[in-house]
Amino acid sequence: MIDAAAAPAPSIDPSPVDLAASTTPATKTLATIVHGHTQETLALTEDEPTIERFSTFLADHGYEQETRIDPRLLDLLRTIAKKHEGTRIEIVSGYRSPKRNEVMRKKGRHVASHSQHTLGMAIDFRVDGLAVPKLAAEILQAKWQGGLGTYAGRRDRFVHVDTGPKRRWSGF
Ligand SMILES: [Zn+2]
Repeated sequence: MIDAAAAPAPSIDPSPVDLAASTTPATKTLATIVHGHTQETLALTEDEPTIERFSTFLADHGYEQETRIDPRLLDLLRTIAKKHEGTRIEIVSGYRSPKRNEVMRKKGRHVASHSQHTLGMAIDFRVDGLAVPKLAAEILQAKWQGGLGTYAGRRDRFVHVDTGPKRRWSGF
């Protein structure tokens, strides 16, 4: 029988610390974002990365410049990732300093339609296991209001999305 008047038992830790549980992130990883140039990776969850972190991740590393990336681009990646949990999203091109854009333009590399990159308003990317036309279809399903270009050639496979005016085109 329990004696109600008895002093409370000394408080002890309710249970041993479960190391596995305590290291589990609060929010699960939806996808891993990989930067095609730096090979740096970034976990994409419901809350991470912040737009500040994402902007640094997408900086123009060669020219040591960065700009704030339009949050709608990060939202779109999250929407796509939710449909392909655990996938890998490769960023082909993020922010481009005006200098880099000019260098690329002189080389004639489909840059005219890419000026939005110099404003932090565009990214080029691809998703593992998802063909470019399928990825483009999912972006349209997500009711994307900006620009959408698909590049499904032998050398380059990616989609370009930007938050400029609504445009659709197919590269090569
Ligand atoms: Zn682009």
